[in-house]
Amino acid sequence: MRTSSNGTAVVGTGPDGNYGLAQCYGDLSSQDCILCYAEARTVLPSCFPNNGGRIYLDGCFMRVQNYSFYDEYTGPDDSYVCGNKTRRNGLLFKETVKRAVANAVTDVLGNSEYFGRVQMLVASGNESVYVLAECWRSLNLSSCKACLDNASLVIEKCLPWSEGRVLNTGCFMRYSDTDFLNAVPDTSRSYNRGKIIAIVVSVVSSVSLVAVASMIAVYIWKDRYVQKKRKGSYDAKKLAKMLNDSSLNFKYSTVEKATGKWDEANKLGQGGFGTVYKGVLSDGREIAVKRLFFNNKFRAVDFYNEVNMISSVEHKNLVRLLGCSCSGPESILIYEYLPNLSLDRFIFDATKGRNLNWEKRYNIIIGTAEGLVYLHENTKCRIIHRDIKAANILLDLRLRAKIADFGLARSFQDDKSHISTAIAGTL
Ligand code: ATP
Repeated sequence: MRTSSNGTAVVGTGPDGNYGLAQCYGDLSSQDCILCYAEARTVLPSCFPNNGGRIYLDGCFMRVQNYSFYDEYTGPDDSYVCGNKTRRNGLLFKETVKRAVANAVTDVLGNSEYFGRVQMLVASGNESVYVLAECWRSLNLSSCKACLDNASLVIEKCLPWSEGRVLNTGCFMRYSDTDFLNAVPDTSRSYNRGKIIAIVVSVVSSVSLVAVASMIAVYIWKDRYVQKKRKGSYDAKKLAKMLNDSSLNFKYSTVEKATGKWDEANKLGQGGFGTVYKGVLSDGREIAVKRLFFNNKFRAVDFYNEVNMISSVEHKNLVRLLGCSCSGPESILIYEYLPNLSLDRFIFDATKGRNLNWEKRYNIIIGTAEGLVYLHENTKCRIIHRDIKAANILLDLRLRAKIADFGLARSFQDDKSHISTAIAGTL
C-alpha cells in the first residue's frame, strides 16, 4: 500500500467483516483523486442496506463488500456503457480503436501500476482515438489479463459509437474520440504519492465506515466485547433481564410495526449510518427510527449501555434518544420525531427557504449554539460533535433547532474526558 496509489481496508472478522477497495486511475492528479473519492464516498451509501456496492467514476473506482473480493476479476454485474454519437468513417475508426485497445492492454500488463493509456491517430485524417485501461492492483497479473481480454472484446460492442466504457469486476476500460486523458506528469504522482496513499487508506476506511456505520465504533465495540467476554461479565440471561426491565428497550416487532414494516412511504432520509423512518407507536406517539446498517446483536450490552448514557443527555436543543432495539435481527435507534425534519431541507430548497426569515434563522443559530455549549460543558459526559451540518440540525414544529447525531458509538474512546464524534458522517 505504501508504494501504490490505491488502498484496501479490512475491518472486523467473520459476519462483521467489511472489505473496501479504492483506486484512482493512473493519470489522475492527487488533488483530483481526492475529489473523486469524495464523490464516490457520498454516492456509495445509496447501495445500502445491500451487502455492498461498487461505483465507477471516470477518475476512480470504489467498492465495499461484506466478504473478501480482492481477487475477483469477473462477475455477473460486469457491464458496459456506450456513448451516443455515431461516427461517419466507421470502419477506420473501429480498426483504430481495436489497435489502441490492444496497445493499452499491453501497457497495463507491462507496469506495476496496472495502468495504460493510448492516443492513436485515425489513418484517414486528423482525428484520434483515446483509450484508458486499468486493473485493480489487488489482482495478480493473470487475473488482470483475463479481465482486460474480456473488456477488449466487450468494448467492441460499442463500435462504431464514439464512446465506450467497460465496467468489469476487476478492471475498467474506456475509449473515446475526444481527449479525456489527463495531462498529469508521472513526477507529480510520485511526488504526492505518500499523501495519496494516506488519503486513499483513510477514504477506504471511511467507506467501510459508511458501509457498516462506523468501523471505528464497530472495531472498538468488538474490542470491548472481547475484553468483557474474557472478564466473564457478558451474560445473555442478565442482558435479557436488563432489557426486559428497561424503558429504553424497544422490541424489534414493536418498531417494525410502528414503521409499517419499513414502508418506503415512511422513509425520512438516509445517512452514513443508516436509514431513518417515521414510526407511530400503538399509543399514538410519533418516533424517528434509525435502522443501522450494521448489526450489534453480538455486542448488545455495549450498545445498550451507550444508548443508556446518551439518552440521559437532555437539553431543549438536542434531539432526544428514546431508546434502542439491540437484541433483535437489526440494530435500531429510536429518537423523538421532528416534524420539520432537518435544516438542509429548508436552506437548500428555494420555496421552503423563503419560510425562514432572518428572525427564524437567528433563532436556529442561537439554538444550535446553546445545544453545542451544553454538549461541551455538561459535566456527566462532555461531547464534541465534529459533524455539525444542516442535515444534523433538526427543526421542531416551531422551527426550533435540535442537534442530532451526537455522541453515539464514540464513547468508547480510551480518553474518557470527553466523547468525540470524529469522522461522524458522510461528507
Ligand atoms: P450522516 O449520519 O451520514 O451524517 P445525516 O445526518 O443526513 O447523515 P441521518 O442522521 O441518518 O443522516 O438522518 C437522515 C435524515 O433523516 C436527516 O437528514 C433528517 O432529514 C431525517 N431525520 C433524522 N432524524 C430525524 C428525526 N429525529 N426526526 C425527523 N427526521 C429525522
